[in-house]
Amino acid sequence: MRVASQGNMPVVLLKDGASETKGRDAQKNNIQAAKIVAEIVHSSLGPRGMDKMLVDSLGDVTITNDGATILKEIDVQHPAAKMLVEISKTTDNEVGDGTTSVVVLAGALLENAESLISQDVHPTIIVDGYRKATKKAKECLLEIAETVTADDKAILSKVARTSMQTKLVRKDSDLLSDMVVSAVTSVARKDGKRFAVDVDDIKVEKKAGGSVKDSSIIQGIVLDKEIVNNSMPERINNAKIALINSPLEITKTETDAKINISNPQQLRSFLNEEHRMLKGMVDTILETEANVVLCQKGIDDMAQHYLAKAGVLAVRRIKESDLAKLARATGAKITTNLNDLRPKDLGTAELVEQRKIEEDKWVFVEGCKQPKAVTLLLRGGSQRVVDEVERSVHDAIMVVRDVMEEPTVVAGGGAPETYVSTKIRTWAKSLVGREQLAAEKFADALEVIPLTLAENAGMDPIDTLTALRSKQNKGEKWTGIDVMAAQIADMKASDIVEPLSVKNQVVSAASEAACMILRIDDVVAAAKSAG
Ligand code: ADP
Repeated sequence: MRVASQGNMPVVLLKDGASETKGRDAQKNNIQAAKIVAEIVHSSLGPRGMDKMLVDSLGDVTITNDGATILKEIDVQHPAAKMLVEISKTTDNEVGDGTTSVVVLAGALLENAESLISQDVHPTIIVDGYRKATKKAKECLLEIAETVTADDKAILSKVARTSMQTKLVRKDSDLLSDMVVSAVTSVARKDGKRFAVDVDDIKVEKKAGGSVKDSSIIQGIVLDKEIVNNSMPERINNAKIALINSPLEITKTETDAKINISNPQQLRSFLNEEHRMLKGMVDTILETEANVVLCQKGIDDMAQHYLAKAGVLAVRRIKESDLAKLARATGAKITTNLNDLRPKDLGTAELVEQRKIEEDKWVFVEGCKQPKAVTLLLRGGSQRVVDEVERSVHDAIMVVRDVMEEPTVVAGGGAPETYVSTKIRTWAKSLVGREQLAAEKFADALEVIPLTLAENAGMDPIDTLTALRSKQNKGEKWTGIDVMAAQIADMKASDIVEPLSVKNQVVSAASEAACMILRIDDVVAAAKSAG
């Protein structure tokens, strides 16, 4: 219990079991925790980074080198460490890539701040210096950024490939990046002069089995559902598709009603009426000449029978989100009231077919003309492999989207960080007072990216960094570390490019998190609840 006294009156502030850490101790403790988190992901950075095997409480294993996934799985408890986990997650949501870099950079910013604090520089001065340096860093990034054509598939492929270089799927990155670029450019909408991409328009289905090379893009939607009735055709060419989100069954009335049936005749007419209504529903659909029915709700056995008799392929209980994607892929309008269904509401696809994917049967709606929703079907030797393929493809989709929406790129391989660091070191001299020291530390922290890339590649970090700096000082701004070749190289020639938005996000988010942690001088923790 924390008790303060006012005259002879004790004032109870905190409950029993609560703890409080103040001042330097609080700062040290927070910085230490954040540094440990950064240390965890440090060895995963870059194409030569190592993977982590994470085992959850149920014994499920995840193998990954994606920063956001690693941190999500390890279930961090320390509040300051949690903030780094948060920024990794936010970076993943915002730009998709840079989730390891942001944590490594935040760790370096805090480590450097710690040495200033021990020299008696006040944390608020450090925060001010870091904030000014962040603004300057973004200006410097803009200086070296190059504007590209938003729908230039060659450049988009390079960006996708760079993001996949660091992942388990590296050897298949050519195939996967082409698929990703094709998917993103298909679903992109032109919004005036700019493109807008809704990544939800890309359906990602995964199935363990085969190899990553068997992955494919479907110009339409794959449904992980079977055809509703065995007597229906399994393949329809030139499909005319009705999308229905009401049940093709007789639904119960809202009010409770009892019907007393007193003789078999009455029962028969009752059932006949049901059949007549179901047949009426099917006839309404058939009048439009639809040959495929995709329904969000259930389809009654009798309705299935009539549909099968008419040679219609039908699937039931499709997810609402999939129905929306089907509408965008096939051009169909989703019908709620069957009586409103008209031939113009039907969508089209070259082929609708049920195929066996390993032990499951899935329905492929493919060959859609100019689909605004597509599917990536990902394959891989085991569940863990397809899971990692999915994560890598997600990152690649996001970076391609980033460039389509904001068509500016920078080099990868530590080139922009080295450039910005040098620039900030010179600029810092213009600052007065101790902020200058903070800005210099900010510049040092940025170099953690090239240093780590080199270290993880087995190169000498210091030699590599000095060689890099000296090349860049001669005006070669796109010089970075070609990690795979373990040498300094022109990143443009090596096709290692990244979206400017990822670099901006990494710098801002890392600096924000570091500043937030630095400003804390009092940690009050409630007592842990039992159990
Ligand atoms: P993050 O999750 O932060 O994206 P990664 O492990 O994917 O972390 O590593 C990203 C870093 O690796 C970026 O700085 C990027 O420029 C760099 N990188 C990617 N491919 C290469 C390559 N072939 N050579 C050098 N650096 C690369």
